[in-house]
Amino acid sequence: MRLDNEQESQNIEDRRGSRGTKAVVGGGIGSIALVLIAMFFGIDPSAILQGDGGFQSSVQEQAPQSQQPGVRDQGREFVSRVLGSNERVWGEIFQKAGRQYAEPKLVLFTGQVQSACGFASAASGPFYCGSDQKVYIDLAFYSELRERFKAPGDFAQAYVIAHEVGHHVQNLLGIMGKVQARQQRASERDANALSVRLELQADCLAGIWASLANRDRKILEHGDIEEGLNAAAMIGDDTLQKRSQGHVVPEGFTHGSAEQRVRWFRKGLETGDLKQCDTFAGRGVL
Ligand SMILES: [Zn+2]
Repeated sequence: MRLDNEQESQNIEDRRGSRGTKAVVGGGIGSIALVLIAMFFGIDPSAILQGDGGFQSSVQEQAPQSQQPGVRDQGREFVSRVLGSNERVWGEIFQKAGRQYAEPKLVLFTGQVQSACGFASAASGPFYCGSDQKVYIDLAFYSELRERFKAPGDFAQAYVIAHEVGHHVQNLLGIMGKVQARQQRASERDANALSVRLELQADCLAGIWASLANRDRKILEHGDIEEGLNAAAMIGDDTLQKRSQGHVVPEGFTHGSAEQRVRWFRKGLETGDLKQCDTFAGRGVL
């Protein structure tokens, strides 16, 4: 990937090296309160506390790294340029539609973090919290992605950020709220099916970002597209289920199969057309 033509974002919140606020809120009490708040607002609390399941990580709470908050480093610069690129692309798309794009913040953390959606450990993987409009990521996840999920490459890493920004776009457009309201009234099976549609749309939106960023700033290099598609396949629900339990239970899918994730990411990537990302159209097979 070439990101040197993209501006760094000003929306990075660097909380690395801090131990989160768990001690301050008094152990589990804070998270229980947040679960109750989540239930009040009709968000599935298990979904919140598990983070973005498709990216579930085995990163455990670690000692803070030697980096001090605010200190520049490669990982931060990479994430910052990917986020900056997303801001530029989505800012233009929203502007053309006569709307304002409210930029999300991106929180870098190590080990554990407090969000408006609850307390999360790095084991949840990167996630987006709609209540505070922030994307959360522990950069240790990138070595997980490379080694455990067998999805190496900088474009795979950028796809992770773009997918979470995709959730932010869904939030701004009111799609996330509508889906969560419907999930509340649905059976577990139907709620999972709605989650799959939401997640595949975030994949498609990530593809839209890559398509338009490449059109304007030539970000893609040889092999990048394959890296991104490979990452989408490696975090497909069937791939993950096979690894963890040896068999596949489609009813339990919350993010989509490898084939679906690849197909929707590719759709956004190849067309750059938002209209192609309507994963909620029709009731049939996605
Ligand atoms: Zn997601």
